Amino acid sequence: MNRLLAALVLLAAALTAHAAAPSGGLSSVELRLSRAGYVDVARAVPDAFVDLMYARPDNFAGRVLYDSLRHAYLHPRAAEALQRARRELRRRAPGLRLMVKDAARPVSVQRAMFAAVRGTPKARYVANPARGGGVHNFGLAVDVTLCDSLGRELPMGTPVDHLGPEAHITAEAELLRRGAISRAELANRRLLRAVMTAAGFRTIRREWWHFELERRERAARLYPLIDF
Ligand SMILES: [Zn+2]
Repeated sequence: MNRLLAALVLLAAALTAHAAAPSGGLSSVELRLSRAGYVDVARAVPDAFVDLMYARPDNFAGRVLYDSLRHAYLHPRAAEALQRARRELRRRAPGLRLMVKDAARPVSVQRAMFAAVRGTPKARYVANPARGGGVHNFGLAVDVTLCDSLGRELPMGTPVDHLGPEAHITAEAELLRRGAISRAELANRRLLRAVMTAAGFRTIRREWWHFELERRERAARLYPLIDF
């Protein structure tokens, strides 16, 4: 009887631990990132909001694209750069915060994303992990927007991960002229770009929210692919 009781207590403890894991513990992918030296954005920039868009169903694909990441990780150099961006934002707009929407993507996560859209018209928007990976797969790219101190996102003209010309940073004068984005939305984008580029990040043409510390070719030459 005592042995049965002990077994039940152990079982209850195991079930409790299992139930607690999704909110408190790290997933196996997150543990590996952490052990490999990638930095949790919540530690590097404690007042940043983190809201990983591909871990939720309301992204461009309309479904959860991965469930193994809830924390945002970056290569230490990218995490330091994000700290610099935070300082620059504080200087320019003390009431605002950074909101990170995606960061390091281990190859397994990229594979899960690719599998989720494979065979659909959305497939062309997700990099095929078999082709060597993008800058997110080196932990050197971050998708980020601005929000207020309560985590309410500033209007930027399109949601993060909007696919289309309204998200291009090269066409903004034209977008403004035809009323596709407002003057305030353009000012918000410019503020985000100013703080991120002052910190050393580079922009890409088609996504106002995407910033990378290195171009892909250099990343692939100088940094390890997050190959797990
Ligand atoms: Zn990105």
